[in-house]
Amino acid sequence: MTSSAFAEVSAAFPWFFPAVAFIFGACVGSFLNVVIYRLPKEQSVVTPGSHCGCGQPIRFYDNIPILSWLILRGRARCCGRAFSFRYPFVELLTGLLFTVCWLHFPPVVAVCGWIFVSCLVAATFIDLDHMIIPDVFTIGLGVLGVFIAALVPALHGHDSGIYLVDALRGVRSALLGLLIGSGLVLWIALIAEVVLRKEAMGFGDVKFVGAIGAFCGWQGAVFTIFGGAVVGTVWFAIAWAWEKTTGRRAAAAPPSETPEGEAAPLGFGAHIPFGPMLAIAGGLYFLFFRGPVLSWMAEMAQLF
Ligand SMILES: [Zn+2]
Repeated sequence: MTSSAFAEVSAAFPWFFPAVAFIFGACVGSFLNVVIYRLPKEQSVVTPGSHCGCGQPIRFYDNIPILSWLILRGRARCCGRAFSFRYPFVELLTGLLFTVCWLHFPPVVAVCGWIFVSCLVAATFIDLDHMIIPDVFTIGLGVLGVFIAALVPALHGHDSGIYLVDALRGVRSALLGLLIGSGLVLWIALIAEVVLRKEAMGFGDVKFVGAIGAFCGWQGAVFTIFGGAVVGTVWFAIAWAWEKTTGRRAAAAPPSETPEGEAAPLGFGAHIPFGPMLAIAGGLYFLFFRGPVLSWMAEMAQLF
């Protein structure tokens, strides 16, 4: 499609491309459900096709993102076993994130955003289930971020028109984000370990913030660390209040889909995954806060 045809369709049907982005995102979300479930078990994410817990393959018409879950009311057609609300939730979330990317960024940057938010969603739910973030979403995502910054320097706001200059600036932004982000978390983790006399943050968090920095720059990495602490505090406060008012044990992490997974009990000193908080903060920065933060920093720089 030529760019003028693209612009014409956009002008005549403003809802068309955002709707396509949502549907595509929901389909990617459906694939992410498979990745979240299978990747930590080192199973192939391609074969075999989706199948029910009873062993029956799931038909394509029962595997439509979001809709199938609603039509079947969260139950399998073959044997009636319940499917977690989390499956349509991940599809809906990914669809919404893809739509926001599309609405906020030029198309080519939006596609980079799709890759980034997909990895954040997968890393979040794997960390909730297993307390680990696979290397592919930390080291892999960081390396990918540097490559993408060279291919699409506009991701880091470099748009001078001279590609080679922009590409070098893009790589510099991504590398600075990666190194400053992971270096800062490493120092925080080391200091916290000395002060608290226990491991406060895992090495996975160090690598994960580095990867977020490769997509968000060093400013985004710093925002992610402090934003993640805020998100974590709110998360903890809500879970703690829920535990106090209902008298029931709040699970810091939701029960895993896997039989061996157990809901993590909440309590001070409990081991709570920090990856989801970092992913939320990093995603918020990428989608909403990058512009305001960078212009605020430019204003501050003028003052001093
Ligand atoms: Zn079944």
